[in-house]
Amino acid sequence: MTLPPNVHDAEPIPATARDAIDALMQSGDLFRYTAPQDAPVALLEAEFAELLGTKYALAVSSCSAALFLSLKALNLPRDARVLIPGFTFAAVPSSVVHADCIPVLCEVGANYRVDMADFAAKLDDVQAVIISHMRGHTSDMDAIMELCDERNIPVIEDAAHSLGTTWHGRNIGTIGRIGCFSFQSYKMINAGEGGIMITDDSELIARAVIMSGAYEHNWKKHKGPHGENSHELEHAFANWQNHLPLYNLRMSNLSAAVIRPQMPELARRVRDGLANHDYVAHRLNGSPYIDVPAPLAPEQRAPDSIQFNLVGMEEADIRAFAAAAEGRGVKVQVFGLSEDNARAFWNWKFLPEQVDLPQTREMLMKACDVRLPVRLTRDELDLIADILLASVAEVTGPVPVYGT
Ligand SMILES: *Cc1c(COP(=O)(O)O)cnc(C)c1O
Repeated sequence: MTLPPNVHDAEPIPATARDAIDALMQSGDLFRYTAPQDAPVALLEAEFAELLGTKYALAVSSCSAALFLSLKALNLPRDARVLIPGFTFAAVPSSVVHADCIPVLCEVGANYRVDMADFAAKLDDVQAVIISHMRGHTSDMDAIMELCDERNIPVIEDAAHSLGTTWHGRNIGTIGRIGCFSFQSYKMINAGEGGIMITDDSELIARAVIMSGAYEHNWKKHKGPHGENSHELEHAFANWQNHLPLYNLRMSNLSAAVIRPQMPELARRVRDGLANHDYVAHRLNGSPYIDVPAPLAPEQRAPDSIQFNLVGMEEADIRAFAAAAEGRGVKVQVFGLSEDNARAFWNWKFLPEQVDLPQTREMLMKACDVRLPVRLTRDELDLIADILLASVAEVTGPVPVYGT
């Protein structure tokens, strides 16, 4: 019997990371600000900014830390209202609460993207927006930026799980004022933990750098494009010196040494992830009971999982489907049906304001999530698709055949 693949282990870390890690073990130089220049964290920031095509990058301890620092860098007043999608990871409303702001939730559609009518209706009441490209699904960034630019509302992109996704050919994370990414193990680049924020705004990066823990004059080790300390950047740093709290959310050199050798792997991971996803999506869409929502036209995704909606099934059938798939060895997460799920907004009981979002709730009750690590082979993908389709058939019975 062929066993379904293990979908939880990541790819091995490239062997080239070993040399960099051995050198760090020898020197003991794990703190980003000890070396006068070229510390692994500083090199990672320069390489990441160049890869994404932005001026500045700041590496930190997690994407949650990057989101928190982004809100603090925007200098929002206490209790500022921040619009976030109702479908996201609990880290997003948590970062808003951490920054002493109030999350305002907006509806998400059956295609996992921000509902633009609800977004527009709630926009006049908020001072900032965080868009989560949840599992890489990109909301209509053209409409979002137009609405926010008109009102001068800053947009933070939570691209934690979207590294490598593009919109009109442009990297996700570079469209809003700030973009935040994660290096947690389930994301495209794996350091166990870690995050990074990018921006073209010297004022925002200077504030974020200082608050991330660049105490005294450590900010002098942060450079602009081409390793230069531009006048603009120095001016911003000098301006904020001693005026901001230091939250110490720095990245260690060890994490950077694990991340940097994975950057050249990104293009391949993106390509394989998309091909794998589209292959399984095509097979699943062959069932009348499964709908894999199509991407918006400008989006090119970098998926390492697949999401699909079950069509015409009641909750009991959906539970039976998930149990059948699990019995055959494929774990299906139905966001709204698993206990205490961190992506179900009704479990965010720490929010200062509770709301109901009927449309998002309905989506969460039937949206299924299956991991598809980019390293899977065609045979393994077929096995997963076979199991999902067989589990649907087990619950729904044979597809009716009309005529004779
Ligand atoms: C993983 C994730 C985060 C949190 O990232 P951490 O680095 O674990 O803090 C935030 N938002 C989304 C959409 C994520 O997938």
